Amino acid sequence: MKKENNSKMHVKAGDKVIVLSGKDKGKTGNIKKVYAKESKVEVEGVNMVTKAQKPNPMAGIQGGLNKMEAAMDSSKVMVICPGCEKPTRIKYEVKDGKKVRICKKCGEKLDV
Ligand SMILES: [Zn+2]
Repeated sequence: MKKENNSKMHVKAGDKVIVLSGKDKGKTGNIKKVYAKESKVEVEGVNMVTKAQKPNPMAGIQGGLNKMEAAMDSSKVMVICPGCEKPTRIKYEVKDGKKVRICKKCGEKLDV
């Protein structure tokens, strides 16, 4: 089994983030998916693209145009700290051998 290596990523699925650049600049949303290898993230309601969906009656999928999130570079988003509710930089501390992300502004732990 290959171990997933998320150490380079400053964000995780479920994080609330703000978009720093591009057409969705200033939008906030929760991270739906993280692509660690590509350093990309999918953020709810951000970077929407329209994709044609083929109908698949067996799976109950209707054909048509579907709006969905496209992955974007993780460097374009910044984590919003749940403690101070501001976009923040993150520092890392090792606790019990685990890397914990900490808000540089208020010191709130971002990982439980
Ligand atoms: Zn904070």
